[in-house]
Amino acid sequence: MSSIIQLLPDHVANQIAAGEVVQRPASVVKELLENAVDANATDIKLIIKDAGKSLVQVIDNGKGMNVTDARLCFARHATSKIRHAEDLFSLHTKGFRGEALASIAAIAHVEMKTKQDQEELGTQIVIEGSKFVSQESAVLPKGTSFAVKNLFFNIPARRNFLKSDTVEYRHIIDEFQRVALAHPNIHFTFYHNGSEMFNLPTSTLRQRVVNVFSGKTNEKLVPVQEETEIVSIQGFVSKPEFAKKNRGEQFFFVNDRFIKSGYLHHAVMAAYDGILKEGAQPSYFLYLTVPANSIDINIHPTKTEIKFDDESALYAILRASIKHSLGQFNVAPVLDFDRDANLDTPYHYKDLEGVTPTIQVDSTFNPFADDKVNKHYAGSGSGSGSSSSGSSSGYRKPAATASWESLYVGLKQESEFPTESAEISFESEEVTASLFNDEEVEHAVQNVYQIHKKYIVSPIKSGMVIVDQQRAHQRVLYEQFLANMTVHQASSQQLLFPLNLYFSSGEMELIAELKLSLINTGFVFEDTNDDHVVISGIPVNVTESEVSMLLEQLLSDLQDGIPENSFSQNDTIAKSMAKSLAVKTGTSLTIKEQENLVNGLFACKDPNVSPFHKPTFITMRVEDIDKKFAI
Ligand code: ADP
Ligand code: MG
Repeated sequence: MSSIIQLLPDHVANQIAAGEVVQRPASVVKELLENAVDANATDIKLIIKDAGKSLVQVIDNGKGMNVTDARLCFARHATSKIRHAEDLFSLHTKGFRGEALASIAAIAHVEMKTKQDQEELGTQIVIEGSKFVSQESAVLPKGTSFAVKNLFFNIPARRNFLKSDTVEYRHIIDEFQRVALAHPNIHFTFYHNGSEMFNLPTSTLRQRVVNVFSGKTNEKLVPVQEETEIVSIQGFVSKPEFAKKNRGEQFFFVNDRFIKSGYLHHAVMAAYDGILKEGAQPSYFLYLTVPANSIDINIHPTKTEIKFDDESALYAILRASIKHSLGQFNVAPVLDFDRDANLDTPYHYKDLEGVTPTIQVDSTFNPFADDKVNKHYAGSGSGSGSSSSGSSSGYRKPAATASWESLYVGLKQESEFPTESAEISFESEEVTASLFNDEEVEHAVQNVYQIHKKYIVSPIKSGMVIVDQQRAHQRVLYEQFLANMTVHQASSQQLLFPLNLYFSSGEMELIAELKLSLINTGFVFEDTNDDHVVISGIPVNVTESEVSMLLEQLLSDLQDGIPENSFSQNDTIAKSMAKSLAVKTGTSLTIKEQENLVNGLFACKDPNVSPFHKPTFITMRVEDIDKKFAI
């Protein structure tokens, strides 16, 4: 029998290898940027088109290649960076595998121009799908330019697998930021579809962090510095009050290489122990320098994980130095979490009955609370409804004092209540009526009882209903937001002082995509800049202090990409906002709040489940209860 094993031709082997190195346009960005850094460039330009799907180009002023190397660099395992296996343990370069260019050239159209300083002419090479198309001498500036076009042109399945431009662009920004943050001594510029997205001049580390993120970042940072025998640490961590909901701004660099390490992350979180709210994420930009032979970078093909010789010592040093910095800069003592927690929830108001006049003022911001206010509000337009609303101090705290009302904004009038749809009819007619009458303060019968700050129990004709307060409120808010967005009828409350909110450029991209849907919920954007938005109006049932949290939660809910069609976009936003704003388990509700929540729930189109498909209430029939007593 003849033998059946064959050596794969180079271009096939390269295509297979490319699968590991190049997953998406961002992988090309990473490899090309790292090569430029390794070539000692001081100026690096990144130019992309269509989120890198049509073009990724990196132009550097580094050392360039001579004509032989220019051709050889596309061969597999061709590298100038290591020669012996031992070199792996004293790496000072980003690359060392010699695989990147061979892989990229196997699956794209590549045009390379390169010239060394001392040479008169440079070399220009075109290579497509591993085949050399042309090679010429040319007059070129010093340095190297790689233009990678039509990625995956010969692997349609991979090309189809790419995500939307927004998602791919975000991955590119991530890679760009990682390299840019690691090298403040290099001038980076970044263009997307002809617009300049970043221009980062040579600067100090702190300035680089600020330039990459936003001007506002500066005030958030606390420096960290530590020198020991096994590691030197420098960088910045954020003050706890600026903690975010997501982990977007957390960076470790080891010997100028971006790495991910759950273990070191844990060390940072341990340093913040007790001074961060649950789920809050500090930003950090930490640069560790360790002896090259004490780490092994070789354990992960994309090289974002590394292995340290003495991890537990690193852990302890890192934790201690961050703790020290937070203490030294007096960060911990100024915090007052009790106060913050109360501000976060609009339901924590003790003396509701005592502030009737304030309720009247606030109801201006609740266009659906009763007919009169509704007309008044609509008449003054969505942008300027505050002018006739009474004292400005009342205006500044709308949802603060109108806490229970916010449960109810946007719900239908009494007559439209589809109680039968939920197959629940309330026992007491008089109470049902009183729910819609704001002036009625006294209640003859208490019909709702909150238990364990979690459930609301209410008698109904057939027995009783037990409502999960958090899920119920999520449902109420979700339907309300969705309705507002689909009929484009959301009302806004205008802010006296517009809010400036700063975001990273990746986040700004997302916000730009979502802008229309956000406007439909009641947001008014006065301006959108490179790194911040100016918000002059917010949805009626949102308080000013909740806005930043709300948007951050939304951005973090969209980590996996923005849904393609506008319906699911609206749905995602409505869900996220409902999740953020809903009253949480553990919050005491007044009787009025409880009543409104229960009634609000049963006015919903789909009261049975939360937007996240969890049951919102259960019922117990009298017969069921009877059975429990029958022995
Ligand atoms: P590696 O970076 O792992 O060595 P690559 O395939 O990325 O492998 O690059 C192969 C070689 O091409 C590098 O070792 C380097 O000598 C050369 N090279 C790549 N990019 C550049 C550049 N921008 N400037 C100068 N030389 C480069
Ligand atoms: Mg490389």
